[in-house]
Amino acid sequence: MYRYDVVVAGAGPAGICAAVEAARSGAKVAVIERYGCVGGNLTVGYVGPLLGGVCAGTMAEEIEARICPAFGLVPDFETAKIELTAMLEDAGVDVFLQTVVTGTDMDGEHLKSVSTHGKFGQLEFAADVFIDATGDGDLAVLCGCPWERGRGGDKLLQPVSLMFVIDGVDPEQKLLCCHEEHYTDLGDGREYLDLCHKACASGELPENVNIVRLYKTGNPGERMVNATQENYIDPLDPMDMAKAERSLRKQIGVVVDFLKNNIPGFADISVRGSASTVGVRESRRITGRYVLTGQDMLDKKTYPDTVVHRAGFCFDIHNPDGPGQSEDREGCPISPPPYDIPFACMSPLGCENLITAGRCISGTHMAHSSYRVMRICMAMGQAAGAAAKIMCDTHTTNATVDTDALREHLKMRGVRLDA
Ligand SMILES: Cc1cc2nc3c(=O)[nH]c(=O)nc-3n(C[C@H](O)[C@H](O)[C@H](O)COP(=O)(O)OP(=O)(O)OC[C@H]3O[C@@H](n4cnc5c(N)ncnc54)[C@H](O)[C@@H]3O)c2cc1C
Repeated sequence: MYRYDVVVAGAGPAGICAAVEAARSGAKVAVIERYGCVGGNLTVGYVGPLLGGVCAGTMAEEIEARICPAFGLVPDFETAKIELTAMLEDAGVDVFLQTVVTGTDMDGEHLKSVSTHGKFGQLEFAADVFIDATGDGDLAVLCGCPWERGRGGDKLLQPVSLMFVIDGVDPEQKLLCCHEEHYTDLGDGREYLDLCHKACASGELPENVNIVRLYKTGNPGERMVNATQENYIDPLDPMDMAKAERSLRKQIGVVVDFLKNNIPGFADISVRGSASTVGVRESRRITGRYVLTGQDMLDKKTYPDTVVHRAGFCFDIHNPDGPGQSEDREGCPISPPPYDIPFACMSPLGCENLITAGRCISGTHMAHSSYRVMRICMAMGQAAGAAAKIMCDTHTTNATVDTDALREHLKMRGVRLDA
């Protein structure tokens, strides 16, 4: 049995920040990750644009400075893997890779230990406080915490996608297209988004692809591509995920042919690399002491226990039921004003010494579509790590932890919660 103060499940953007913050604050910390490297969607998922805003001073700034100092886009995923690994090592976090959290030992609503499966067989990790940063809320579910999924009514989830990088683009070609509102003249009377839509209508692109988003990398001859899309997939069902993987890998070839055949400067492109896993935008949302709503964000609601301040991103709901976005106004996504996230959303019902961080926190389908982006998940992770250390020191639960002290701790770290 391993014994830690804090155990973090999942080493994505949220889990890394949680582990680093708890360790820097003096806790003995382990992070348990199912894949062979840390980073989650930011590395294995090939998701390069660090989107979303938060108030100044969070760990998102530090990560950005380390992995993409130039422009808020990860210039290459190899640097990200190295830097994120170094951050954990420098903070003194014990990292367990290729290890899946599979079980829990509970005493009522108190989590005593988690069990994991890996090549070494089953391992047990006891801790005072646990953080679920698995994206899917796996640990919380194993603890018996309540959860929700999908949109109201039919419970459909956002589609899954497989990100990839192309190279061989003529370095003189400037074409980038990041979002639905990104009007791009190809210089010969054609407009890029219009071209994408016509290709979907004619069958040259799969219908639900809708837009081939192209982001720059550190190399002028490369583009990150966010285009493939598979609807009606349950990311918790391994057969569904295999079906999505098959379809999305075929779509990569179709998208590449579309770019080669239509876009000046793209004739010689090839696929440089692709995500090692199907990218999941949405799965479980673990119900907490507060459920954040899209209306709260629009209303700029404030909370005494705010731990993420001035979060900013649009309601980015990739249509669960077909192509395009499902929450937009005249083709543009709706953006709430900068909003706050209270600790109560990261405090799950049903387990007193568990904290959630990242895309599995407590919120509605609409709210989740905004806070799921990486800078906001990193800020949540940092707050979770700080809360875990305080819970250890004060023998409190996720319901009784002193959130004034938590906010003071984050401010002491430089997080501008009052600005
Ligand atoms: C196709 C796609 C495009 C996106 N585009 C953008 C974008 O441009 N910009 C942006 O900011 N965001 C984007 N997002 C959203 C963003 O990437 C995620 O919401 C964000 O990474 C969530 O962070 P997280 O730490 O909560 O989860 P993840 O990044 O999913 O990390 C969770 C980690 O937990 C691990 N894990 C899961 N289960 C277990 C288990 N049982 N045991 C051990 N480990 C486990 C996983 O392997 C993973 O490493 C995109 C998402 C997708 C899918």
